[in-house]
Amino acid sequence: MIYLDNNATTQVAPEVFEAMQPYLTNLYGNPSSAHAPGREMRRAVEAAREQVASLLGARNASEIVFTSCGSESDNWAIGGFLEQNPARRHIITTRVEHEAVRKLCEHLAEIGCEVTWLDVDEQGSLDLDELRNSLRRDTGIVSIMLANNETGVLFPINEIGRIIRENSDAVFHVDGVQAVGKIPINLRDSQIDLFSISGHKFHGPKGVGALYVRNGLKLPPFIIGGGQESGRRSGTEAVPNIVGLGRACQLANEFTGHEGIMALRDRLEQQILANIADAKVNGTTDPDRRLPNTSNISFEGLRAPEMVAQLDAKGICVSTGSACHSESSTVSPVLAAMKIPESSALGSVRFSLGRYNVEADVEQTLIALSEITA
Ligand code: PLP
Repeated sequence: MIYLDNNATTQVAPEVFEAMQPYLTNLYGNPSSAHAPGREMRRAVEAAREQVASLLGARNASEIVFTSCGSESDNWAIGGFLEQNPARRHIITTRVEHEAVRKLCEHLAEIGCEVTWLDVDEQGSLDLDELRNSLRRDTGIVSIMLANNETGVLFPINEIGRIIRENSDAVFHVDGVQAVGKIPINLRDSQIDLFSISGHKFHGPKGVGALYVRNGLKLPPFIIGGGQESGRRSGTEAVPNIVGLGRACQLANEFTGHEGIMALRDRLEQQILANIADAKVNGTTDPDRRLPNTSNISFEGLRAPEMVAQLDAKGICVSTGSACHSESSTVSPVLAAMKIPESSALGSVRFSLGRYNVEADVEQTLIALSEITA
């Protein structure tokens, strides 16, 4: 199998599995228990919190709260803020957010919030003047992703954070799910108040994520119960997953192969553009404004679901835009927002490379693509 769908999910790193294993067998205490096994679990959870804080450049490990996934982190950040600040019901977000933000904001608009949807241009970039002009006295929260899951386009969140601070009292939430493990993050020196991450996107296990909550920001709990996570997220901690997330963060901190991944992605992309008529990249190709691993390519006149199936038959895993609508043949809202013509958008395939890809994966994919498009 050749796996080029790392934005959908990633392989659990062997080191992560090894770290988790004892917590799935012998080490099963409840971190809230006062006895020795309970205390050992508590230590494991707190060590993982330090590892997450270190990868994100948080000032303090207490700013990290474990959740069950990126979607929960996104929902909690935005929903929790609005619960805490019911009078500040103006939200600003973009048209290209993941469903966990986009559909939540659509729902919030239905129940009385006012949502400003920022547009993007053909390259997938935001107009920062539009953001500046949208900020109001009653703007409660701005939610803008760091890296787009479909195109890999990066938004300038440091500049965005400064604009928000200078022009409003709004809280700034960033969906960092696709960026973590792929580019450096430094929350300490940013204007970001809330930052969502998800373990399975960077070689950790599924079923665990975290929300960074800047010290001093009040957020009511998303799950009410036994008061775990300092009362911010109840439910007995999923210790094996949390340990796995921590180890994945440590591995990401140590990883030095990003340029190698980018070289493979660039080779794949350049060869496709050179050899397949009317193939086009969706989103910017500026390396400073795109993830190093992602390439979203339109094959004009072809149908992406069929291409995905044909590649799958050859043992190659790719995706049509976002994994959530891989079955449907409607244009993804992200490509629609970029005004990609329908004939191109319906033939758009996302290649997302990862740590375990090798040159032969790219060469075989290029051969397979030349057969499919011949
Ligand atoms: N945000 C972005 C940008 C994503 O790409 C995803 C997953 O694809 C999510 C949020 C949701 O993460 P999870 O699958 O952990 O709920």
